[in-house]
Amino acid sequence: MMTLPKFEYLAPKNISEAAELLEKYGEEAKLIAGGTDLLVSMKQKLFTPNYLIGLDGIAELQTVHFTENEGLTLGSCVTLAEITKNKMILEKFPLLALAASKVATVTLRNKGTIGGNVLLDTRCYYYNQSFFWRQSLGFCMKKDGTFCHVAPGSPTCRAIVSTDVVPVLVALETKITFFSAKNGKRTVDLKDFYINDGILRNRIQPDEVLVSLNIPTSPKGFKGTYKKLRRRETIDYPMLGVAVSFVEDKNLIKNVKIILTAIHSSPFEVVEAQQLLENQKPTQEIINEAAEICYKLAKPLDLTNAPPLYRKKMVRVLVRRALEELANC
Ligand SMILES: Cc1cc2nc3c(=O)[nH]c(=O)nc-3n(C[C@H](O)[C@H](O)[C@H](O)COP(=O)(O)OP(=O)(O)OC[C@H]3O[C@@H](n4cnc5c(N)ncnc54)[C@H](O)[C@@H]3O)c2cc1C
Repeated sequence: MMTLPKFEYLAPKNISEAAELLEKYGEEAKLIAGGTDLLVSMKQKLFTPNYLIGLDGIAELQTVHFTENEGLTLGSCVTLAEITKNKMILEKFPLLALAASKVATVTLRNKGTIGGNVLLDTRCYYYNQSFFWRQSLGFCMKKDGTFCHVAPGSPTCRAIVSTDVVPVLVALETKITFFSAKNGKRTVDLKDFYINDGILRNRIQPDEVLVSLNIPTSPKGFKGTYKKLRRRETIDYPMLGVAVSFVEDKNLIKNVKIILTAIHSSPFEVVEAQQLLENQKPTQEIINEAAEICYKLAKPLDLTNAPPLYRKKMVRVLVRRALEELANC
């Protein structure tokens, strides 16, 4: 049986207090929101912090706010369950609710937060295992070792980004805001936040708390969908996820986004396919061509429980299906 390592739980009352604790304890501490990912990783001894700084008692992080001008602002600790059933989100941002509904299962969505999803660790078959399992293989470069079992000789870790909601958030042009005790607030485009390296993953600073996400109001004619490939229709992380959106304007495709998850270490925006589709009529021919480009450019490695070639082929299938659905082909 895997047990949690010992830690002290700290319960700040507001964002400033949380940031001060994070600065004070540095690498000895980790923030915890829903804990659905972090606690499993702690049991596997991937993280052994002396302090856990709990965010779920901070009211400012639980808010959902919408105006036409400012768009949707979500506190980082809004749960995925809330996103799937909030009436305003369902009406104005159905794509976001759809992606949230694809995460794990109801019990995990009741605790799991949108902030935790944005900051989810990258995953790999050789990393998300017990200490004993990892030790028997001599560990790996992401934790305790130097070798990559997936791509021997690779200078970087190839663990994959495994969040379902992030590709949709990128398609929706989300901005995220952090707070640190030393530097105050910082806002960045989510699109520029991730790094295609399984260890580095993203550009959060060690002393920062993710405070909120802001999603602009979708323009008239906006359409979007999210397709997920997984072994079982519940619980499983994505083996591939495809977010596709565009604005339909006089039967032309505008501002098209095609973002893949669970293929590379960061969300993969398929710019070449987007360029092909931009300002075009959504015909079956151009949809097939765009899906083919995505297939060619996606380079999955052998680090989930499905063969990489299968996942690569499914990129073509899911991108085509998503575009057909939006174009009503
Ligand atoms: C069996 C299982 C299946 C799962 N399936 C899926 C799936 O299909 N799709 C999917 O996307 N996810 C899946 N997950 C992962 C997880 O449930 C979700 O991604 C969830 O949204 C994580 O949120 P959390 O609040 O629980 O994060 P936590 O576990 O609390 O935190 C995750 C990380 O983010 C950091 N963090 C959290 N909040 C903040 C903040 N405000 N500021 C700074 N750092 C912060 C934590 O320090 C930690 O490093 C699964 C998990 C399990 C156990």
